[in-house]
Parts: sequence; C-alpha cells; structure tokens
Amino acid sequence: MRNMLNIVLFGPPGAGKGTQSPMLIEKYGLIHLSTGEMLRDEIKRGTPLSEEIKHLIEAGHLVSDKIVFEMVREQLEAARSPKGFIFDGFPRTTKQAEMLDKEMADHDTKIDMMIALQLDDETIIKRIQRRAEIEGRADDADVSIIHTRIKNYNEQTAVVMDYYRAQGKFHFVDGNKTPQDTFAAICAVIEKVTK
Ligand code: AMP
Repeated sequence: MRNMLNIVLFGPPGAGKGTQSPMLIEKYGLIHLSTGEMLRDEIKRGTPLSEEIKHLIEAGHLVSDKIVFEMVREQLEAARSPKGFIFDGFPRTTKQAEMLDKEMADHDTKIDMMIALQLDDETIIKRIQRRAEIEGRADDADVSIIHTRIKNYNEQTAVVMDYYRAQGKFHFVDGNKTPQDTFAAICAVIEKVTK
C-alpha cells in the first residue's frame, strides 16, 4: 500500500469546504480535487457536456455519477507521485463512494478518513448568500435553488456518511465556528488518525 494521506472533506453546501481545503493543502502538501470546480471549469470551456452540466447545477441538482467520476479519474491519473488528495464535494452519492474505493484500490491506496463538517441550516443559507455576493455563482444567488441543494444533500448525499462510518473512517467536526477554529479541529482529527 502506498504511503499517502487521502481525505474526504464532507459537508452540506456552504459548509466551508472550499475555505478549509487550501489551508489543508498548504499544511499537508495534498492535491485538491473539487468536483464543483471541475464542473464549473467544464462549463467555462464550453465542452460537449457543458450545457447538460450547467442546466443541472443551476437547478441545484446533482450531475450524474458517470460524468463526475470520469473527471475525478482523469485528475487522479494526471497526478504524479502525490502525497495525497483532498476530495472536496465528492463523493456525493454512495455509488460515487464505491467507485472511488475501487479506483483507490486499483492505485494501491485507500481513503484514510472522512471529515464531515456539520452545521445548522440557518448558517448554511447565510454563508451561501454571502458567497453569492463574492463569487457570483448562479446556484448561490436564488434561495429556492439553495433549498433544493440542501434537500438533495439530505436525501442523496448525507447517506455517504454511513458508508464511511461502516468502514470506521467517519469523523465529525463542528463547522459553525470561525474558519481558524474549524481548521484547528480538522487538523486535530488528522493528527489523531495518522498518529
Ligand atoms: P460545489 O461547488 O461542491 O458546491 O458543487 C456545485 C454543484 O456542482 C453541485 O450543486 C452539483 O450540482 C454539482 N456537483 C459537484 N460535485 C458533484 C458530485 N460529486 N456529484 C454530483 N454533482 C456534483
């Protein structure tokens, strides 16, 4: 088994995954794989799949497991001798989690832990609305789309926690606090698991 640190950073939309990831990358030298960013990039480049992806994202729905997984696989293949990966916004379904496990095993490595940020719906909505002003994402700007995303998270994505819990890899961090406090709590989990 290769000596890597592979973390699934998990949480509802607006949980702070995009804020925490750069800090974790810097501290642990990991590669950031954000499927949301990959999909937004796909739209920007106007690839053959971009119309379908744009439509789904702007409605607050999940993109298909197949499309998302192909993008992740490409990035995993492209990485040369990585120290490890942070998966941000992926896996979002149990099927994706299963595909990821298989892919990691094929590369002689594994997911070491899932760190799940948990926070109140009220905080989530406030954060997404603030991000809408800064980043101008269409899926952040409309309250009904935000509600659809939270609903899809609860109905399709939250079960992924059970998947990692069953493997003894699940860790929970309170995401309602400041970015610095949340970062310290995440690092404490990583240190404990890797000790
Ligand atoms: P994010 O930047 O992670 O909030 O993702 C933005 C949007 O991209 C989501 O609301 C989904 O529509 C789509 N998306 C991102 N990651 C995934 C994934 N792993 N599976 C399916 N859809 C995804």
